[in-house]
Amino acid sequence: MNVTELARKLRMHPEELKTRLPELGFDVGMRAIKVDDRIAQKIIQQWPILRRQIEKKRQMEKEEKIAEDVRKVAEAAPPVKIPAVVTVRDFALRLGLPVTRVIQELMKNGILASLNERLDFETASIVAEDLGFRVEREEEESGVALVVEDRIRALVEAEEKDKLVARPPVIVVMGHVDHGKTKLLDFIRKTNVMAGEAGGITQHIGAYQATKNGRLITFVDTPGHEAFTAMRSRGARIADIAILVVAADDGVQPQTKEAVNIIKAAGIPFAVAINKIDKPDADPERVKRELSEVEVIPEEWGGKVSMIPISAKTGAGIDKLLEIILLIADLEKEKIVANPERRAVGTVIESHVDKGEGPVATVLIQAGTLRAGEDLAVGNSLYGRVRAMKDFRGAIVKSALPGTPVRIIGIKVAPSVGDIVEVPENAKELERVRPAKAAGEKMATVERRAAVLETEETKAVATVNLVLRADVLGSLEAVITSLEKFKHPEVAPNVVGKGLGNVTEADVLRAEAAKATVLGFNVLIPQPVANLAAEKGVVIKTFKIIYDLLEEVRAALEALLQPEVIRTTLGKIKILAIFRSEKDAQIVGGLVADGKAVLGGRVRIIRGEAEEGLGEVASLQAGKRDVPEVRAGTECGMKIKTKTAVQVGDVLEIYSEERRERKFVV
Ligand code: GDP
Repeated sequence: MNVTELARKLRMHPEELKTRLPELGFDVGMRAIKVDDRIAQKIIQQWPILRRQIEKKRQMEKEEKIAEDVRKVAEAAPPVKIPAVVTVRDFALRLGLPVTRVIQELMKNGILASLNERLDFETASIVAEDLGFRVEREEEESGVALVVEDRIRALVEAEEKDKLVARPPVIVVMGHVDHGKTKLLDFIRKTNVMAGEAGGITQHIGAYQATKNGRLITFVDTPGHEAFTAMRSRGARIADIAILVVAADDGVQPQTKEAVNIIKAAGIPFAVAINKIDKPDADPERVKRELSEVEVIPEEWGGKVSMIPISAKTGAGIDKLLEIILLIADLEKEKIVANPERRAVGTVIESHVDKGEGPVATVLIQAGTLRAGEDLAVGNSLYGRVRAMKDFRGAIVKSALPGTPVRIIGIKVAPSVGDIVEVPENAKELERVRPAKAAGEKMATVERRAAVLETEETKAVATVNLVLRADVLGSLEAVITSLEKFKHPEVAPNVVGKGLGNVTEADVLRAEAAKATVLGFNVLIPQPVANLAAEKGVVIKTFKIIYDLLEEVRAALEALLQPEVIRTTLGKIKILAIFRSEKDAQIVGGLVADGKAVLGGRVRIIRGEAEEGLGEVASLQAGKRDVPEVRAGTECGMKIKTKTAVQVGDVLEIYSEERRERKFVV
């Protein structure tokens, strides 16, 4: 048969037919004009199958071509910058590919992600590289929402210049976990709080004031990521100067970089305290080198940043550090001012409900003077009247000037950390907040998100308790945000603890107390912690990919779901005779009235309308023979395993029961 004729019969272009036939295992050359008749017959016979195979090949070739095109574009493009955490949408934008294409590629890697799902760098870079892109880590963007506006500064700038007077500078201490932030703050508190006054018990209220060279310096005393959170508060920038603590024996770590990003984004001057120089393995030069790599260049290398070697343990260098802080404050003195005569405005840096005192908040007064007896508002909501104020030493004060932290007692509702509070112009016009509403409204920060999980979600019947650890705030936020989606009426994740940095012994103890699992993202488990966990029977798992961590939680939630029990009625038997009644079994005779009787089937014993008991068909006979089942209309004898005494006239309902594991879907 002519090739062209065959092609016409098959409705295909002769040239394509000639290329396809060898691929399908038919020995027909490209130049052939004729095909052996027997072979032609075979091809025609098998055509429905062959055509499908050709379709598949065409599809594959098309996909390969697209992939090849993408690869070519990708190879020619400059490296794609990807931050620590990126949404699928943003990721697709950065690659310049349609979102659907990216979602498809994620699916190939076993990741079912929606548009707003967050991917960690690891996952995103694997997918991008699979597509042929070169990837670079974007260091500037830490995935953390950074400070965007500064309401307080705008307010100060709007004042008449001659009303502005100097106020104490506000210092925040940042750095990687365990690099010595707390110890440094404690040392300064112990040694620089004004002599005589230091005799009183200093309270940890979230901030304190120290004196150096007769000048007051206010320190925000919330170390670690709480300080970050406060820094990032709604439009408020509380600190004038930051101290970045870096341990000389550990160098620049993820939270160090995150702190650098936050400080730079906030645009505040800072000094570096190279801590722990008393340690034998301290290497301050290494710290400088590593900081230079993130564009924090020491002064002696021509940069702008003072780096002071200190020991928070021995106190070495801390005087010098404070001198430098005062020097920076002098350079910034035009900004470190406020009008003490206006209505007070400040930012909440600590807040809780005290058993005895009720709602208590520490507010850093940033402008104006706050006096006992004044009303306080957040936005348009009235939070109550300041009944009393205490300074950081616990002494009652009547008023608080700009730059001063005060503990406020007597308000109706505890505001949130980061809230800007102010004395309202006209309290009567404002809406009084009710406790529940205030709590419901302010759910912005990590703390609050976790709090939602803690309060609302635990209404579910069962919870998977978790202690979370992550390398940086950005990823901790990403994990918590993703967990919020695991809402289900019956089961829920419950975050009982969280923190940045490696897993600690405290995490293990907390997990033990709360029957929780410790999940870490991009963190390590130090050996002593692993030992303690083994001893206490606490499970710790660490992950490098957020998706895997979430998958772990999802699986745990799924395991908690009660299986679905599906009952199917198989038949009904009317009891006609009781042959023998034993303690654990009944030997009876009856008529299968409906459906069938089945050996091994479950039994409900029904008398009138009521269920009398349950049992199981232990043996089944028809016409004296053992049988697996007996159909409707036939009489049968059976032994029912049950503790219930069956009576003539009872109906036995035979049913099967299937337990089906349920999937956790959100
Ligand atoms: P933070 O997590 O940054 O607040 O770190 P901490 O202040 O809690 O310090 C972590 C650990 O390092 C503690 O065991 C401190 O005692 C220790 N540490 C802090 N500063 C120094 C220091 O200058 N020298 C030495 N040898 N140990 C320090």
